[in-house]
Amino acid sequence: MSNRFDGKVVLITGAGSGLGRASALQVAKEGANLSLVDLNTDSLEETKSKVLEVAPNAEVLLITANVTDEKAVEQYVNETVKKFEKIDGFFNNAGIEGKQSLTEDFGIDEFQKVVNINLNGVFYGLKHVLKVMRKQEFGSIVNSASVGGIRGIGNQSGYAASKHGVVGLTRNSGIEYGQYGISIKAIAPGAIMTPMVEASLKQIDQENWEEVGKQFVEPNPMKRFGKPEEVGYLVAFLLSDQSRFINAVVIPIDGGQSYKY
Ligand code: NAD
Repeated sequence: MSNRFDGKVVLITGAGSGLGRASALQVAKEGANLSLVDLNTDSLEETKSKVLEVAPNAEVLLITANVTDEKAVEQYVNETVKKFEKIDGFFNNAGIEGKQSLTEDFGIDEFQKVVNINLNGVFYGLKHVLKVMRKQEFGSIVNSASVGGIRGIGNQSGYAASKHGVVGLTRNSGIEYGQYGISIKAIAPGAIMTPMVEASLKQIDQENWEEVGKQFVEPNPMKRFGKPEEVGYLVAFLLSDQSRFINAVVIPIDGGQSYKY
């Protein structure tokens, strides 16, 4: 087993589910101590028990917080530093898809809600974690964008706007902070089978969502959904010292689909 994260501290938002949980499991297996943030306390507890199954010696701090609340973001960063004294890696990941509809029907409240979580939440995370990392003069950050942040997908005004925004923040902050030994990357996952994607397929057809899913992945060069653990492997690499010179970029993980549209 690789020990790329021995002695390292990794902070993850949206850690109660999907990509956040899979990444927590991967870095913990490789030696990391974890600070895990989510809105949902029960799902955080579940992630912690799964982490301890694969990494019994991991120290795990759980913080229930809403990433749209800047004070709460400042607090999750402070609590992490209070316990672990540093932050080596930050997976700035919490997000939602929101409802799907044509732009003219896209509710203003829905638009604001999606942008508030996916974009403002990521910005607040960057703002407060970068303060810590600049003092340390090291750190790696991975922001969760999406294929919807580098291509048009359709029916997702809020999601597309927020994820393109995450790409912009990544490029902007990456060029600002490289000089301090900090690298900032974004990932652009395609359809990865997590509770978020299941809910999205159910928006299309509650009863036959699995069939809808099969049709959905038909155009993908690999003709399948990605697996959360495949994103976990990528995030672990991008948070590790091995990827320090990769900065201000967006890395698709989508079976090649974004080059096919
Ligand atoms: P998920 O729904 O399985 O997990 C998201 C987690 O974020 C949940 O535990 C949820 O409670 C938490 N969360 C939501 N709003 C929050 C808030 N305001 N404050 C704190 N926590 C909050 O979703 P996922 O598929 O794991 O997605 C994770 C990230 O990856 C999201 O940003 C998503 O947009 C992005 N992404 C996912 C896919 C995919 O196919 N799964 C594709 C592209 C991008």
